[in-house]
Amino acid sequence: MKQLYAAGLMLAMTGAHAATQTVDCGRLLDVKTGAWRERVSIVIEDGVIKSVGPLTQAAGNIDLSRHSCLPGLIDMHVHLTSETQPVVDAYRDRLTADPADLAYRSVRYAERTLMAGFTTVRDLGAQDGLNVSLKRAIAAGAIPGPRMFTAGKSLATTGGHADPTNNLSHFLSEKVGTPGPEEGVIDSPEAGRQAVRARYKEGADLIKVTATGGVLSQAASGQNSQYTEDELRAIVSTAKDYGFRVAAHAHGAEGLKRALRAGVDSIEHGTLMDDEAVALFKKSGGWYVPTISAGRYVADKAKDPNYYSALVRPKAAAIGPQLQSTFARAYKAGVKIAFGTDAGVFPHGNNAKEFGYMVEAGMTPIDAIRAATVHAATLLDQPKRLGAVEAGYAADIIAVEGDPLRDIRQLEQVKFVMKDGVVYKKL
Ligand SMILES: [Zn+2]
Repeated sequence: MKQLYAAGLMLAMTGAHAATQTVDCGRLLDVKTGAWRERVSIVIEDGVIKSVGPLTQAAGNIDLSRHSCLPGLIDMHVHLTSETQPVVDAYRDRLTADPADLAYRSVRYAERTLMAGFTTVRDLGAQDGLNVSLKRAIAAGAIPGPRMFTAGKSLATTGGHADPTNNLSHFLSEKVGTPGPEEGVIDSPEAGRQAVRARYKEGADLIKVTATGGVLSQAASGQNSQYTEDELRAIVSTAKDYGFRVAAHAHGAEGLKRALRAGVDSIEHGTLMDDEAVALFKKSGGWYVPTISAGRYVADKAKDPNYYSALVRPKAAAIGPQLQSTFARAYKAGVKIAFGTDAGVFPHGNNAKEFGYMVEAGMTPIDAIRAATVHAATLLDQPKRLGAVEAGYAADIIAVEGDPLRDIRQLEQVKFVMKDGVVYKKL
């Protein structure tokens, strides 16, 4: 396995993916129509799909003729530069870990995510520019990982879900100082605009706001509204100037509705959405990114008295179990859904379990796959480049053994991964 990464990396670094290569597939899922195309060959040139035609099985082709091929999967909500750990270790890190320590750890998280078949992710928040640097390292071929779109640092209000100084002692607070727009903490529309511009300077691709309290921050509420609508509007309108889309973390219904009215592109989690929120989703065209996996994981870990802090544990127990039923209601009501897990809240590489949770809650397998391919690509503003295996698209191809339309959990066993025409996982 290690040698394979190395081979893929060398190719990526030298840009020397054989100029033309062909992948033979037993069948290929057309995610748009939902139908299998039997026995096809995919011709790839310089990392881009040139054509999809009848099976040729010429010498030198990559042989997936006994497998089912799909487009590379897309996870719209990950945190590739951190991973869940018991509170005692998290506090130790807060005192002793340097950004470089966290950066080196994230190399393995990125690798695991790619090997699980996720060729593209949206990273929704990290400190110290870690996610922006990770994106650059992957894009340069220095390390294997999914193609990243990053929010840089999430934006929060003082004491909000992404305020990095929450619950610090007075001694440490004094040392660290009060974070401002550069560090992603704002308390006015003006500061909101400044924080968006700071993300542009940071090298981010989109904006993430934490519109309500959250489960894992060291703060009392997991659902209170944390922005005025004016602040959210200032952020969204400035983001548009820079070509940024805006993702809003929201559990509580009021904060969620303020974010949708302000024009954000997606709501993350959406746990306590009510009928009015569902109507607003439809009116605004906003996307819903459910992250059921995170809900299930934190609800489970809340049973362990030593895993989360005393502030976090009751929030995890109250909010975690509700995500899947919210998802079921939203899907039935016709809210637009893009696949997202919040990986990092649970161990990286388990992203595909989300498919099983979605289907368990009533979604059809093809809709779950669309959420992680064409629909995710649309929310990323990459509908002609990502999320399908067609001429002109990036050569992001995965393969599984069985039929994921009959058994969605096949996607937890991805056997082959190609990104931009480079093979990272071989049969
Ligand atoms: Zn998150």
